Amino acid sequence: ESSILEQIKETITEKSVELLHLQFVDLEGILKHVTVTTVQLEDVVEGKMMFDGSSITGFSPINQSDLYLQPDLHTFAVLPWTVEEGYSEARFLCSVKNPDGSLFKGDTRNVLKKTMERAADHGYTISVGPELEFFLFKTDEDGYPTRELGDRAGYFEPSPHDLGERVRLEIYRALKAMGFTIEASHHEVAEGQHEINFKYADALTAADLATTYKWVVKTVAKKFGLHATFMPKPAFGINGSGMHVNMSFFEGSQNAFYDSSDELELSEKAYQFIAGVLENVKSFAAVTNPLVNSYKRLVPGYEAPCYLAWSASNRSALIRIPAKRGLATRVELRCPDPSSNPYLTFAVIAAAGLDGIEKRLEVPAPVNEDIFHMTDDRRAELGIENLPGSLKEAIVELEASEFGAKALGEHVYSEYVSLKTAEWDRYRTAVHSWEIENYQAKF
Ligand code: GLN
Ligand code: MG
Ligand code: MG
Ligand code: MG
Repeated sequence: ESSILEQIKETITEKSVELLHLQFVDLEGILKHVTVTTVQLEDVVEGKMMFDGSSITGFSPINQSDLYLQPDLHTFAVLPWTVEEGYSEARFLCSVKNPDGSLFKGDTRNVLKKTMERAADHGYTISVGPELEFFLFKTDEDGYPTRELGDRAGYFEPSPHDLGERVRLEIYRALKAMGFTIEASHHEVAEGQHEINFKYADALTAADLATTYKWVVKTVAKKFGLHATFMPKPAFGINGSGMHVNMSFFEGSQNAFYDSSDELELSEKAYQFIAGVLENVKSFAAVTNPLVNSYKRLVPGYEAPCYLAWSASNRSALIRIPAKRGLATRVELRCPDPSSNPYLTFAVIAAAGLDGIEKRLEVPAPVNEDIFHMTDDRRAELGIENLPGSLKEAIVELEASEFGAKALGEHVYSEYVSLKTAEWDRYRTAVHSWEIENYQAKF
């Protein structure tokens, strides 16, 4: 750690870093930060920066609200868009500590660390590659998003149709400068929809990268007069935005999901992992698909899953096994969306997989037919269940399970359930434009 600190100090001098943003996320995964000067670096590194936890969604009650930020030195990055001659800014992602130095249980970064420790007890490290899709919308003269999409292009279309190509190039440059390894960038299926992929990493790093990615995408888009949104279904009738999560467990340098002797070249652990995810997905959907709006994406016909099934190739299934084997063997879960807190999303998926391994669960048969176009009878015959149909159904499933509190810890679990219950209640009692359009004139 001391040599990392030396490197950071060198960079601060070299790049004339003046301001440091100390970042962390709230219960919903929304990025927060407080800005200090590099003169305070020593205090910052010792975790002496205090803040008021009672003003952060899902954090502590008012009577014990003093919390401290402990920067993770590995997350130091100069912010490329701030760099000028003789001036720049940098950031750290931080864990949150209690005044006595213990880890704060309401910090979702700490929840994921706990899950990684549980995996480590089995001898596993968790490897995660998320794929975050987003939309670009035009903004008004005040910089607020309008309903007008940034372009009319479709899947893999190049410029001049793809008006987002320049924006994606600038996002790519910014991410690369911040240490990302970028693997691909493309226009997605829907108008105004895009995806930029980065290399998989250990679960904590991947969640840090996903958090940073969302911030950088929004920041760069703004410079082009565009608003980037990770809202899962911003418009009816076109694809929504997913965050596919590719996950595998490693034992040392070996991929524990790979077994060359199996028909699909998957190990027994991989099958148990899949079984664990299928067993618990209804309970954790409120985490991976956290908004009222999330469930408007999970409908048939838009490449988003709605049924509980797995397949080696089928894109209509909830779980797909991408073709690559050997070290790249992985399970792709297709329901999560990018509005979810990546720390919690990776934690619940890994916890579900670990449950499957601990209980040696049997995986159901794969479904290789197109499930979107299957009749209800055929699905019933195959025993294929549905994902929750609404945030309400997902909350009910989460509360009915033992999985939630175990995977999230008591503090986050209870804060999360009350946050989401209140959100559902506001939605349930609001009068929506659909109701006005359909009822006001008619009745
Ligand atoms: N946008 C789709 C979703 O909602 C995914 C499309 C894709 O990447 N194949 O999950
Ligand atoms: Mg993709
Ligand atoms: Mg995609
Ligand atoms: Mg994918």
